Amino acid sequence: MALLGIDLGTTNSLICVWKDGQPTLIPNALGSNLTPSVISYDEKSQEIIVGQSAKERLISHPELSVATFKRQMGTKAQITLGNRTFKAEELSALMLKQLKQDAEAYLGCEVTEAVISVPAYFSDAQRSATKIAGELAGLKVERLINEPTAAALAYGIHEGLEEQMFMVIDLGGGTLDVSILDVFDNIVEVRASSGNNFLGGEDFTQALKELFLKQNNLQLIALDKNEQSRLNAHIETLKHALSISHEGEVSISLAGREIQWHCTRTEFEKCIQHLIKQFTLPIERALRDSKIESSQLNKVILVGGATRMPWIRSEVSRMFKMLPTSHIDPDEVVARGTAIQAALKARNEALNDIVLTDVCPYTLGVGIVVERGVNQYESGHFLPIIERNMTVPVSREKRLHTVHDNQEQIVCEIFQGESRLTKNNISIGKIQSDVPKDKAGEQFVDIRFTYNINGILEAILKVGTTGKTERLIINNSATNMSPEEIEESLAKLNDIKIHPRENALNKQIIAQLERLYEEHLGDMRTYIAQVLQDFENTLLSQNEQAIASARNQVLSIMKQIEG
Ligand code: AMP
Repeated sequence: MALLGIDLGTTNSLICVWKDGQPTLIPNALGSNLTPSVISYDEKSQEIIVGQSAKERLISHPELSVATFKRQMGTKAQITLGNRTFKAEELSALMLKQLKQDAEAYLGCEVTEAVISVPAYFSDAQRSATKIAGELAGLKVERLINEPTAAALAYGIHEGLEEQMFMVIDLGGGTLDVSILDVFDNIVEVRASSGNNFLGGEDFTQALKELFLKQNNLQLIALDKNEQSRLNAHIETLKHALSISHEGEVSISLAGREIQWHCTRTEFEKCIQHLIKQFTLPIERALRDSKIESSQLNKVILVGGATRMPWIRSEVSRMFKMLPTSHIDPDEVVARGTAIQAALKARNEALNDIVLTDVCPYTLGVGIVVERGVNQYESGHFLPIIERNMTVPVSREKRLHTVHDNQEQIVCEIFQGESRLTKNNISIGKIQSDVPKDKAGEQFVDIRFTYNINGILEAILKVGTTGKTERLIINNSATNMSPEEIEESLAKLNDIKIHPRENALNKQIIAQLERLYEEHLGDMRTYIAQVLQDFENTLLSQNEQAIASARNQVLSIMKQIEG
């Protein structure tokens, strides 16, 4: 019986199995090793869609689709998809069900047990939530493994005899995680965990896009939705190209202009200096916190798609006076490590992973307004006060000013989460106070958050000029699901159909056409609608030959439109 290794990631998930003496990645129905961690609900067929098609539907059906739910594991948050609500555990279970199905199709046998990776900073509640998700998906979670430990295993750290020390740097789409691991006698201890929730590959794409707009005298707001989305895709491609060659080009028609833009790697690296600086800070913090000298490290391992940018290798080499280790595909490292741990487990040689639980697992902050022009404000932005991964107990304070003349109150809604926008985070309380009427910006409050080892958050709001103080206690420690709740969830998930695997490609084509329809206007839109309708009609015919030929035709049409 196969013991599956699963990297249940925030953006993508992967499955891997130990086969013929090595970790082997298992492709999904679309032939890809990476399945986007996105779930969508199809109200028409009442089916759940998982992966690439669901990712396409994030744009065309945002109210029925959800991503990054891993960040809400172990919380009481309810996530709504149309007329249904789910806990993050249930969404992860649906994801795991799909991965289990893909593994079974590939292996030709039933899979009932798995090793799943979790971030090193995950709290007890988040770890239990991951195990419950497995149980809901019909998988016994034999073992959880810390993501950096899995990465280190993929690089063979368990094969060394002496004590060794590693740093794992994981730069994904939206976050940076830095861990220091100490490995001795089959035990891995996470000595320090640090990071930045607001730094990832997307920030580098953003910086390159800003350079493009500046050099071409364009403003983002002057571009329509379709142009913005095309520009994003072109800039993302250029960013990848600059990782392998010293220069690249973008040819695009925008705002009625044909633009040919040439960019060198040097220019790109010049415009991301502020991000490079942010990248080095958590690395220095991890070394400082663990009182480890960089010279004590045996290896620095790079994980996550964004570590393919060449400046990272030079920066790490400069800081540590050694080349980082990165020869395994950075997207696949963690999944490979989970399969190695599964194989060691089967031989009773699994590594013991000492867990780091004395950190705050989420970012805590308040909703604020930001200035968008003279006297123009936009609400719904998140101001982090205590950042995820800080060692607890921790206390931090921020100052907030009034934004309107004669404002009478300052209201602070408290959120936990990692998103820049509060609508994507979880509201956990509200604290407010009256302030004396005055000119905008003259009055202020100091808001202090103190988070302790039991997951209790104390918020204190103090008005600057009057000294008036308000206090709020929020018990943020997530309670795990009771056995009755698990039974209830099991029944609920058993009732939900996951879209059949055989139709995955057709479903993805429809989702992609729907997204293209959203992005375009006018004649092109009418054309896409027609292609979509014809394809749906062919699917209804259930004539396999006709469907296969229509599929090829539509794929080439979409390639032309996207190109
Ligand atoms: P992950 O979440 O680990 O899959 O990381 C995804 C991030 O890695 C995205 O922001 C991608 O733009 C970025 N990425 C992937 N490949 C490359 C590459 N060749 N060069 C630069 N960034 C990349």
